[in-house]
Amino acid sequence: MQITVTKLEEAGYEAAMLGLSLNKNQPIDKMSTVANNLSDKDYGHNKFLEHIYVWLLIDAPRYFWVDADTYRLSSKQSESSTTVLSKELTVNNFEDKYVLPETLKIINFCINSKNYLEVKKIIPEGWMQKREWCLNYKTLSNIIIQRKHHKLPHWPEFIKQTVSQLDHPELLEKRL
Ligand SMILES: Cc1cc2nc3c(=O)[nH]c(=O)nc-3n(C[C@H](O)[C@H](O)[C@H](O)COP(=O)(O)OP(=O)(O)OC[C@H]3O[C@@H](n4cnc5c(N)ncnc54)[C@H](O)[C@@H]3O)c2cc1C
Repeated sequence: MQITVTKLEEAGYEAAMLGLSLNKNQPIDKMSTVANNLSDKDYGHNKFLEHIYVWLLIDAPRYFWVDADTYRLSSKQSESSTTVLSKELTVNNFEDKYVLPETLKIINFCINSKNYLEVKKIIPEGWMQKREWCLNYKTLSNIIIQRKHHKLPHWPEFIKQTVSQLDHPELLEKRL
């Protein structure tokens, strides 16, 4: 299993706390306690989580990205498959260096023949692709609830690596 998550940036906590304080005109210095109490209260109470954003750089197999793409309230930028699949591949392009030698031979034959469509058709799902994923704490909370026990081990691992790098893991810990 191969997935690496690197947090690039995080922003919005102070603004989220200010926004939360407007509700009952509470002092801003009390807001971290209020936020901790509301962090797992859905149906509107934890809306402030939508204001805290994280930018992650992730290297993961394509079949992980198929699942990740179902999170609609976030944005991604990926390595271009057109560019990467125009040069010969090696075992290092595949998860755990796992690719059948015969498959790799055929892929590289197609790449060298510039038969791009064939490459797209036969590339295994274990092909590793880097993407930057910009998402907020609310989406992360949703991911944890839905996937902390997912049978694809990449999801618990994604959650572990991501939460360990957050500035405010306390806002998600009740979901873990
Ligand atoms: C184990 C597992 C297996 C699954 N298998 C399948 C499967 O086989 N096939 C399949 O199709 N799905 C499947 N799903 C569901 C699908 O993958 C989910 O869409 C995905 O998990 C993202 O969850 P979400 O929709 O809650 O998140 P998000 O897309 O981040 O949405 C967050 C919230 O916003 C709401 N929302 C998003 N877009 C809109 C919109 N346009 N209008 C109104 N509200 C919106 C959502 O209802 C949700 O409450 C599976 C989910 C899990 C956890």
